[in-house]
Amino acid sequence: AKRQGVTICKGHKNYELMLNLQLGIRHSVGRPAPTKSLKLKPTAFDTQQKLWTKFPPEGSKHTPPHQSCEFKWKDYCPLVFRTLRKLFNVDPADYMISICGNDALRELSSPGKSGSFFYLTHDDKYMIKTMKKSEVKVLKRMLPAYFEHVKSFENTLVTKFFGLHCVKLSGPIQKKVRFVIMGNLLCTEVPIHRRYDLKGSSHGRITDKPETEIDANTTLKDLDLKFIFRLRKDWFQEFYNQVNKDCDFLEQERIMDYSLLVGISFQESTREAVNEGPGLGRTGTTRVSTDTDAVLNPARWASVRLGINMPSRVEFTVRSHETQLIGEPTQEFSDVILFFGIIDILQDYDISKKLEHAYKSFQYDSTSISAVDPRLYSKRFKDFMFRVFAYDS
Ligand code: ATP
Ligand code: CA
Ligand code: CA
Repeated sequence: AKRQGVTICKGHKNYELMLNLQLGIRHSVGRPAPTKSLKLKPTAFDTQQKLWTKFPPEGSKHTPPHQSCEFKWKDYCPLVFRTLRKLFNVDPADYMISICGNDALRELSSPGKSGSFFYLTHDDKYMIKTMKKSEVKVLKRMLPAYFEHVKSFENTLVTKFFGLHCVKLSGPIQKKVRFVIMGNLLCTEVPIHRRYDLKGSSHGRITDKPETEIDANTTLKDLDLKFIFRLRKDWFQEFYNQVNKDCDFLEQERIMDYSLLVGISFQESTREAVNEGPGLGRTGTTRVSTDTDAVLNPARWASVRLGINMPSRVEFTVRSHETQLIGEPTQEFSDVILFFGIIDILQDYDISKKLEHAYKSFQYDSTSISAVDPRLYSKRFKDFMFRVFAYDS
């Protein structure tokens, strides 16, 4: 499959930034600071302390000489993220090799509309996203609750955050670049054929790409979804419980605008279906699939009678800005392995969203747009997910 993004080589406009980031991470992660327990003192979450490390090109007592421009580096709540990495079973040495090894990062052609840049490590394991100041603020604010949440729920679907950092360029332009390091949800051994970013809203929730350009790297949206996912009943139950808990958490933190990112790997009919065993994020079945080619070709979607892991199919239609699943079960299905998680969880219901809502409400049915309040957002999100995910009865 085609690899996503552009490798950042010398001459790339963000080459130096990448070097800075790698130097900073090596500095932070490499520092010997054993974390024996998963318990943290409240002071670990203190974000008042401003600890900048200066990285002059010639090197300093604590920093190595380097080829990049002079910059300053800041780690937010380093002990918290160190403990989170431990909780998520990230080995510090592997983490450093993935991010700071000799291989360059790849820059994705801005997959979101927010203006953030995304970088992937060479091994696809980690995704680095640049953040707005407001998003950093939200993450700092919710960090204690986030920590408790991910500690309590091993199977949580919310994004795993491994580090929050800031690079400040020295010199005349004191530009600050803030970024978060997270797990790439779609880093898998099996090929991902289709990816969907689902919110449960319908306004603008359709890809703007022509059908012929849709491929494995296209992020499809709610209205592009032509099927539902039928899970084994016990897995569905687990999914149901976890989505409820995760949404409660996000609602309490007044977060909105998040999505369920779903990656689908269609299993070929000839291959023995992979059975990953129970557990969220990976779902296998042992059934035989239908025509994979047809499934991957949007032009043929109308004729393909497809369901996933399930003997049924439903179709979407848009009715007065409301997403509706309609259609009769087709009794046909295709085996898939699903990978999913809740992403983009750092947008809170702030003034700008309130304004956006007020403005958009004039033109559209207000429940169909994404900027509704966090309680409505989570309700609509869950309602949608529990229609799109179902179980074999
Ligand atoms: P917007 O606010 O306009 O939605 P954004 O810049 O905040 O955009 P995200 O929604 O976080 O961006 O991500 C955009 C896309 O990047 C997602 O739809 C998904 O395809 C991909 N992506 C984001 N986070 C991850 C992740 N952790 N793993 C894999 N892919 C991801
Ligand atoms: Ca998003
Ligand atoms: Ca966003």
